Amino acid sequence: MSETLILTPEGLYCPDVRAHIDPVRPVERAIITHGHADHARAGHGSVLATPQTLDIMAIRYGQGFCEQRQELVYGEVVKVAETKISLHPAGHVLGSAQVRLADKAGRTVISGDYKRQSDPTCADFELVPCDTFVTEATFGLPVFRHPPAQEEMQKLLASLQLLPEKTHLLGAYSLGKAQRVIAEIRAAGYERTIYLHGALVNLCTYYQDQGVDLGSLEPVGTRGRELAGEIVMCPPGQLADRWARRFGDAMTSVASGWMRVRARARQRGVELPLVISDHSDWNDLCRTIRETGAQTIWVTHGAEDALVHWCENQGLVARPLNMIGYDDGEEAAEATVSQIDAVAG
Ligand SMILES: [Zn+2]
Ligand SMILES: [Zn+2]
Repeated sequence: MSETLILTPEGLYCPDVRAHIDPVRPVERAIITHGHADHARAGHGSVLATPQTLDIMAIRYGQGFCEQRQELVYGEVVKVAETKISLHPAGHVLGSAQVRLADKAGRTVISGDYKRQSDPTCADFELVPCDTFVTEATFGLPVFRHPPAQEEMQKLLASLQLLPEKTHLLGAYSLGKAQRVIAEIRAAGYERTIYLHGALVNLCTYYQDQGVDLGSLEPVGTRGRELAGEIVMCPPGQLADRWARRFGDAMTSVASGWMRVRARARQRGVELPLVISDHSDWNDLCRTIRETGAQTIWVTHGAEDALVHWCENQGLVARPLNMIGYDDGEEAAEATVSQIDAVAG
């Protein structure tokens, strides 16, 4: 391992700072990259994160989600013991950050989840040169290529025109994906009101409060068949739920990088799969690793082995982290929190 970070059962740990990064269990001090449920958990002593990530954790878990909050805006440097800590945009969801740790051993960057595609709802990914790069690998197989989001939006708008009698039920996770999809729908020129399942309302409102333009939004409330021809958004889990039946014979759609796997879309009964991901695809993972200039790569969170193999072929030192607690990944963790959001919203 490097001298800066070690692996513990709770996750990555920086001994000098005495803090875990995105720990999977409650710890004394945590640094949190972003608000998704597999990274941000309630019950830590102190949490250092961007102001938006702290806000999002409070929205999801309540104001008492930790004992003490420490805000760090992008680019600001705080020194703890012998280590300089800073956070840099990861381009993943609002407030998402890469964590940079600089000490005598060198510069380490923990990416958290990240993407290079542009996203109108959050700051663009910042390339942070480093010696050791800890990268996610959710879509770490060459088969994963994410098309431009606008291409996928055209499919949705074409279907609305072709089938104006059907409600278009669009499944998207409540943090990040829902807001990005709405912003992309707006960018494609669609100005009508978009209707929201209760689980999406709070975070959409938060994004709007943060200055992200999402256009006209309304909760679905008790409406059903009268929303024929409209776009209704909900967490993906709701598509197969009794809740969805109120819209009659709706067109079901899901926005996810996993929709690239047709069998997965079919198995979930998704008629209109939209390949929109908030993670890097294979090309962008490889490109980013190269561009950081790091000689040591740690791979976590997804298809680790393929990316480790690629790194080794490039002459880099690479290792899979095989951390427990992230195995199910964002989809499963976010599905659980969507239920919390639904209760809260
Ligand atoms: Zn995430
Ligand atoms: Zn994740």
